[in-house]
Amino acid sequence: MITKNIEKNRAFTKVVLNADYVVAGGGLTGVCSAIAAAREGLRAVLIQDRPVLGGNASSEVRLWALGATSHMGNNNRWSREGGIIDEILVENVYRNKEGNPVLFDMVLMDKVLAEKNITLLLNTTLYKVDKGNDRNISSVTAINSQNGTEYSISGQMFADCTGDGTLGYLAGASFRMGAEGRAVYGEEFAPDKQEYGELLGHSILFYTKDIGKPVEYIAPNFALKNVETLIPKLQNPNYFNVNQLGCKYWWLEYGGRLNTILDTEEIKYELWKVVYGVWDYIKNSGKFPQAKTLTLEWVGLFPGKRESRRFNGLYTLTQQDVINQSTHYDAVAYGGWAIDLHPADGVYAEGNGCHQWHSKGVYQIPYRCYVTPDLDNLFVGGRIISSSHVANGTTRVMCTAALGGEVIGRAASICLSKGYKPIDLVDKDKIGLLQSLLVKNGNFIPGIAVAIEDNLVYSAEISVSSVLELDDLPADGTWFGLDYPVAQLIPVNGKVPVIRMNIKANNATRLVMELRSSSKSENYTPDTVDAVIEFDLKKGENEIIADFSYSYTAPRYAFICLMKNSEISVPMSGRLVTGLTTVYNYINPAVSNFGKQIPPEGIGVEEFEFWCPKRRPENKNIAMSFVPALTPFGSKNLRSSYYRPYIGTNAWVAAFDDARPEVCLKWNERKQIKSIILYFDTDTDQAMETVQMGHFDACVPTCYREYIVRDSEGKELCHITDNHQTVNVLELDKPVMTDTIYVNFARPYDNVCPGLMGIYVC
Ligand SMILES: Cc1cc2nc3c(=O)[nH]c(=O)nc-3n(C[C@H](O)[C@H](O)[C@H](O)COP(=O)(O)OP(=O)(O)OC[C@H]3O[C@@H](n4cnc5c(N)ncnc54)[C@H](O)[C@@H]3O)c2cc1C
Repeated sequence: MITKNIEKNRAFTKVVLNADYVVAGGGLTGVCSAIAAAREGLRAVLIQDRPVLGGNASSEVRLWALGATSHMGNNNRWSREGGIIDEILVENVYRNKEGNPVLFDMVLMDKVLAEKNITLLLNTTLYKVDKGNDRNISSVTAINSQNGTEYSISGQMFADCTGDGTLGYLAGASFRMGAEGRAVYGEEFAPDKQEYGELLGHSILFYTKDIGKPVEYIAPNFALKNVETLIPKLQNPNYFNVNQLGCKYWWLEYGGRLNTILDTEEIKYELWKVVYGVWDYIKNSGKFPQAKTLTLEWVGLFPGKRESRRFNGLYTLTQQDVINQSTHYDAVAYGGWAIDLHPADGVYAEGNGCHQWHSKGVYQIPYRCYVTPDLDNLFVGGRIISSSHVANGTTRVMCTAALGGEVIGRAASICLSKGYKPIDLVDKDKIGLLQSLLVKNGNFIPGIAVAIEDNLVYSAEISVSSVLELDDLPADGTWFGLDYPVAQLIPVNGKVPVIRMNIKANNATRLVMELRSSSKSENYTPDTVDAVIEFDLKKGENEIIADFSYSYTAPRYAFICLMKNSEISVPMSGRLVTGLTTVYNYINPAVSNFGKQIPPEGIGVEEFEFWCPKRRPENKNIAMSFVPALTPFGSKNLRSSYYRPYIGTNAWVAAFDDARPEVCLKWNERKQIKSIILYFDTDTDQAMETVQMGHFDACVPTCYREYIVRDSEGKELCHITDNHQTVNVLELDKPVMTDTIYVNFARPYDNVCPGLMGIYVC
């Protein structure tokens, strides 16, 4: 029992913590940042003001996390973010392929709780910053109202991942909020403030549930009345559809003309008015009999935020960087979501709820965007990084944000081990340290080919049990009617192979086949037609032989395009091969893909077609044979700097009939080996939206599930039987001395040719 006599006043219990790396904000950015730092051996404290992790991706807000894959609706092939965010997405699909938001919370919680170096403070709000001097944060103070405790947390490096930039703000770093005019950065899409205002607004989502019997709804008094007149999109079937069960209504947005930090509570009340009013309209207007048995299952209790402060970094990313895909020596991350700006009146606006303009491929993000010149021990991550308002329209999405979280966590570890300030890593001689650490941990940095210095794979002689020579993608009996064009993406270098196919025609007609490529070899926008062949087809099945007689002088992907003709059907192949895919010139309105991007004049955006893949199980290859066979699957790919298809397959793929594929690394002397990392193919072309959207398979078919690692004596170093992850880090209990490492794989599925994307041995 506790009894206390009267006292003049009292204070919360105080707890003092000391950390190497203090992360404020536990959205996906902060989570990835804390995990990255912890895995590098830093003692990290992660301060999150909510009861769960994930920020806008959590069950409290329920946005699906996305990034460059853009719902697989633009031309960014194999672009799912790597590293820790990939590990989280892959794990979520494995455990929660139905996209249950509560289960996604637990995937995040599990990942963070598994890290012994992380002290997690949930329900804890950072509200005060102390500085040792003008340029250094010494400690932060945070309060937990649940346990009545005030935490004073000192640290060496700090990361602001709060979304609103609370830590940077309190520490005095310079920032901007609102939209720059055209003149500031020469951005042609810098929006007209009359229509777009200064900022993107907040949204509150809701979930509904069919309870199988009629249920009444009495709206609260504050619910918005007359919504039919006030919200024009309720008359637009592209936006409003009762069957969408609420959570797709991202356009219930408000606040674009307000201060999205100071006015957040006011914005929330307005959004609640809107949600409960829209639900009143659905339930009680008499227009939606199908809603009779629906009840409101959940309404967001606070709004999801899109935009608030943006900090001034050493470099400010702009529209031109995104659209021109500018190259940066210090690229450490990338994005690929469209530049996505919204009308300031949000839910009350006439017309489109968003204006999205894509670039022809992914764009680099330089390290300098994460570093403020104003302080010597602060990183910024997430939607607050140094970008213009226009570029923030793409960098803000959560997987792009999360990549940056990992970047700054790893950067902090390098800084602390070398005695650098964050700004020092900008140096051309030093940035490679960070780039190679990121790549070693499964990240992809487009255009930056780094060799990981201590990787013994470079000095090993590599031999493999077999190599795929792909001469045939056999037909599986399914056909694709050419109601819209389809293309087979194939890796080429030199002469394009002759292609043989069986095509079905309903009537005598003409097939047009185009050989296309992308004007930039690293892109997948087929904007260049290199050769065209036309075939006159008779009614019924026709064998065609396409010899484009065309050569490419450097490795790249080519598109074998079969152009639209509704009289024609194309045979499909269920055989999956790492590094091959099929793309379709069709529409995906969710990301403003209407087959072709046709921007208005003068907004600095390019016109081009969208050729996008389908999701599994529909994303088959086109059945065709190749003479000569495609052979970009050799073991030398295991030395590549890219652990995913990029310009080439970058994968070693064993022959189709090789039942136990094996790779052997041999050195001419015994080496001490303590760590092995294997990089598998979890199909980085597959978007893995975290919530709301389900996914077909829990495990990606091209990922090896079972393998054994042995040393030169044949001693088993490890035997993994249930892998589903991209990156497998095998830390040996005791280092082994050996001159050979064998890795022996079990083929995971019939009709699949999985690739191994890389090996790191140290
Ligand atoms: C309706 C809507 C639709 C969107 N659509 C998508 C989409 O489809 N895909 C996508 O990827 N992105 C989407 N976005 C954008 C994206 O959600 C945000 O830009 C994103 O949240 C950025 O991630 P973050 O980690 O920077 O911030 P957040 O996710 O906001 O995480 C920051 C965390 O820090 C916490 N925090 C804040 N202040 C403090 C403090 N003082 N102390 C401790 N903790 C603090 C917050 O509670 C929060 O949990 C959408 C946003 C909205 C609102």
